[in-house]
Amino acid sequence: PPSKSEAPLDASRMKVTLTQTPRQVPEPNSPEVMAQKTCTDHMVTARWTVENGWDAPELKPYGAFSIMPTASVLHYATECFEGLKLYRGFDGRLRLFRVAKNCERFRKSAARIALPDFDPAEVAKLIIALCARDGAKWLPKERAGSFLYIRPTMIATDEALGVQRPKEALLYIILACFPDMTKSIAAPAPPALNGETVTTSTKPASSGLKLLASNEDTIRAWPGGFGSAKVGANYGPSLVAQGEARSRGYDQVLWLFGQECYVTEAGASNFFIVIRDKDSQALQLITAPLHERIILEGVTRASVLHLAQERLSHANNGLEPVQVVEKRFTMADVIAAHDEGRLVEAFAAGTAFFIAPISAIHFRGRDLIIPTVGDSGVYARQIKAWLASIMYGQEDHEWGIVV
Ligand code: PMP
Repeated sequence: PPSKSEAPLDASRMKVTLTQTPRQVPEPNSPEVMAQKTCTDHMVTARWTVENGWDAPELKPYGAFSIMPTASVLHYATECFEGLKLYRGFDGRLRLFRVAKNCERFRKSAARIALPDFDPAEVAKLIIALCARDGAKWLPKERAGSFLYIRPTMIATDEALGVQRPKEALLYIILACFPDMTKSIAAPAPPALNGETVTTSTKPASSGLKLLASNEDTIRAWPGGFGSAKVGANYGPSLVAQGEARSRGYDQVLWLFGQECYVTEAGASNFFIVIRDKDSQALQLITAPLHERIILEGVTRASVLHLAQERLSHANNGLEPVQVVEKRFTMADVIAAHDEGRLVEAFAAGTAFFIAPISAIHFRGRDLIIPTVGDSGVYARQIKAWLASIMYGQEDHEWGIVV
């Protein structure tokens, strides 16, 4: 815990300097947006030193900052970040989704990489202040259903090459224009399942994600490592595998762990399957557990599990009930379910891709085709529709935080 002389992070001390050169908002999905480098007019920064603690945060024009070539982050990956979105609702309001959860995870990630502590509620206030400043202009009211990507980041800026706990750090928050990788958010109603035969496709849905399972040379995370923290050091080393997947025609890597090939995550999303249990014949929604600390605790993951528990443990909207299960499972389990016709669907869940149906998994020379009804599994479609309603204000819910 910070000592008394060190000032805590305090959003109420924020100094505001507005830009003199406001920029034009790009068209959605324009080349500039696709390149993912356009940020809004302002950013928030807060400097920390071991002697004084946190300086007053600043909201100021977006732009470059300078750090010394010796800065700790440039050598020792003393960096962590967050990713969430600001949504323009269909009711015209701006909302964040469960921002407190991202701020708590940010604090845990910072602790893992020896970056300074802070009250997560203060970071949430800074995020809200930036969204309130730039949201109205950069998410115009007529663009209901669109979003900006929020990237809170912390880096160690000490100018010293010694390998040691950072003595200086910079927390900053930027708002970026981001292409919509979530496809249509207006999910069609799921087809009725009661009594009717639904034809599941045996060809991979053209719109679904195709995953390439990782091999033993590309382990994303391991027990005792840092896979459960959102630190930059988890992402740089994943890019070779990601590039390989892309060059072979896949969208993302399915990260496996250990000789048993435990299924952990898909790209930068959590991974879910729905299978019919061999013994009980009940449907189960399964995802990897948190206790081994080799997966990131996704905010979307937690929300999927919560909604499935709350709304799918009994028949709903014509959907058969599913049991929610967080447990280890292997590629062998997925293959057995597939081959025995018990694999109902698979999807990825995370902020960037939202709820993304998976249409194929390549593992050791074999392409498993995942069943879909149209372009998605029915559970992924239903859960996506519920979440989108909360994010875009069609359902009033405590997870939607109006800015
Ligand atoms: N796993 C990893 C490795 C990620 O980077 C992310 C994105 N933060 C997720 C899962 C999904 O987390 P969230 O739902 O909070 O975006």
